[in-house]
Amino acid sequence: MQKGNIGVTTENIFPVIKKFLYSDHEIFLRELVSNAIDATQKLRTLANCGEYNGDIENLKVSVKIDKDAKTLTVSDNGIGMTAEDVDKYINQIAFSGAEEFLSKYKENANSIIGHFGLGFYSAFMVSKKVEIHSLSYKDGAKPVLWSCDGSPEYTMEETEKAERGTDIVLYIDDDNVEFLEKDRIDSLLKKYCRFLPVPVICGKEQEWKDGKYVDTDRDNVINSTAPIWMKKPSELKDEDYINFYHELYPGQDDPLFWIHLNVDLPFTLTGILFFPRIKNNFEVNKNRIQLYCNQVFVMDTVEGVVPDFLMLLQGVIDSPDIPLNVSRSYLQSDSSVKKIATYITKKVSSRLEDIFKNNRSDFEEKWDDIKIFIEYGMLTDEKFCDAAMKFALLKDTEGKHYTFDEYKTLIQPEQTDKEGNLIYLYATDKVAQYNYIKAASDKGYNVLLMDGQLDSHFIQLLERKFEKSHFSRVDGDVIENLIQKEDKKEVNLTAVERNTLTTLFNSQLPKVEGSNFLVSFEALSGDANPIIITQNEYMRRMKEMAAMQPGMSFYGELPDSYNLIVNVEHPLVTKVKEEALKALSTQVQPIEDEILAKNAEIEDIRGSVKDNETLNEEQQKRINTIEAEVRQDRDKLNTLITDYASQQPVIGQLIDLALLGNGLLRGEDLSKFISRSISLL
Ligand code: ADP
Repeated sequence: MQKGNIGVTTENIFPVIKKFLYSDHEIFLRELVSNAIDATQKLRTLANCGEYNGDIENLKVSVKIDKDAKTLTVSDNGIGMTAEDVDKYINQIAFSGAEEFLSKYKENANSIIGHFGLGFYSAFMVSKKVEIHSLSYKDGAKPVLWSCDGSPEYTMEETEKAERGTDIVLYIDDDNVEFLEKDRIDSLLKKYCRFLPVPVICGKEQEWKDGKYVDTDRDNVINSTAPIWMKKPSELKDEDYINFYHELYPGQDDPLFWIHLNVDLPFTLTGILFFPRIKNNFEVNKNRIQLYCNQVFVMDTVEGVVPDFLMLLQGVIDSPDIPLNVSRSYLQSDSSVKKIATYITKKVSSRLEDIFKNNRSDFEEKWDDIKIFIEYGMLTDEKFCDAAMKFALLKDTEGKHYTFDEYKTLIQPEQTDKEGNLIYLYATDKVAQYNYIKAASDKGYNVLLMDGQLDSHFIQLLERKFEKSHFSRVDGDVIENLIQKEDKKEVNLTAVERNTLTTLFNSQLPKVEGSNFLVSFEALSGDANPIIITQNEYMRRMKEMAAMQPGMSFYGELPDSYNLIVNVEHPLVTKVKEEALKALSTQVQPIEDEILAKNAEIEDIRGSVKDNETLNEEQQKRINTIEAEVRQDRDKLNTLITDYASQQPVIGQLIDLALLGNGLLRGEDLSKFISRSISLL
């Protein structure tokens, strides 16, 4: 029997393994099963190149729990180890057996599990003692038993073992008894081993018999050994992809599209990415892309490996070239990882372009569902954005789709303003903004529907990308102002008339909570509505951004600001205007004249003061008095006009109709409107 100390630096190794890997104890199983698979693959490689002539038919790995003995055993019928091998590969930790083997059998070694950097010794995370029972494939090899209780000392002796291969026996320590539970081991195997290339067996298949589950005599195989991402795309049908998707994420709708990744150079990567039909955010977080290394599950965080915007996709990525067990920041700076990310981005955009070119109707049909991925990608990834300019679509309020180029061609003739800017009109709500959409289409304009979650950001991106172009929401102003074709028709009102009419309409505006209205006048065409309510585009965008970004709450707290635009060319407005001016001017004019005179007096007093001097006490007093009088005059005017306006139901009616068209007339104001309408009828 041989006794000795493990390796050179092992004094420190076990505490390190136990402490630093504490949070991830469960991965020991992945490591041991990987080693076992590795051993079977090595044997296959040897057989393939004629160095082993024995039977390689039933290569397999099995995991057994013995609750009484408190052991967990991982067995394989792979290459096995001689005492010399154990010495070399186990006792001298620093030595990586995999590396040596790989360099010797470079060409055939593709299928050999790469090395995780942790390996066999992770067994000590959960065990008080570990044994290796092994019989090498080599002719005349003697079985060996190695045993170690977690101290740097081990023992090694000859033993009895009839079959080729290795059993790793873990004596589970008291803190880790969970790993003696069948359910726990089952679920770990399902997590890490689902797609390993050699059958992994854990217990027997069960069946329902006489009111309970009983073992059958069939092995319970955990994995499917030939997952479809390892196959050639040409061998696969749509339903293979769809079935695989459902195997990965049970209970989901069919995926929209998929992309089969398959490269050998300059790095090795296979995988399938799916565009899911996203129903809610919860699913996005739960069903993520899974990262594999030669069919061994590694993790389901692919941050750094996959560009951010593709994190919303689902599926698997398998690459031995992604350095594992390294920090995320390291991953992101690693040059091969960067290449992988770039490759994936390119692949995704070219696949989308393919579908767009070859099956545009399918692409359009799914556009609403994939648009969030594409917009997010365009917003966050410069390269993807450039590629996507070719296939990203715009949808109008009638449900027609256009590429950016097509849409530009469509609207250029009609929607270019007098300064040569191309105006993209859009709506965010087809129903609520119906009036404005109709006003725009009556003029022969097209209106886009931009109702997606990312659309407000996306619009800003497009404004940066498109030259001399501007996006305006249809309710941002009257249509004549949104796309200004010729110089505007002047509004012919004197200052007094303007003041009178402003008060006239202001006084009849119901108070709408959280909203401010600014009355203004436009000389629109006679068939435009008499009163139009619009929402300032700039303020609205500021408020929308404030809602998404902390630190901009100033804008968020402001009321919604609307313009109440009075169309002075509309016959109803003309009538109201003329009647009001006629009825009021004899009373209004003298007061306005007085205000004018008083303001002039204030100006005089201020003008009499020389530069560098201030008003004296008497002058200041006088000004205060006049200002108070002006305020009184204004109040008088206000009462006068308001009294008149309240006797003219048509004014309130016109305003309410406009509010109603915007969904802003509610509660008491709405019922007042209804009774007024009835009495007018
Ligand atoms: P790594 O697998 O990263 O090289 P490990 O510590 O997991 O490191 O294993 C060290 C070496 O021990 C392996 O490279 C392999 O040569 C040998 N080994 C481990 N487990 C087995 C096994 N089940 N069968 C045959 N050899 C094994």
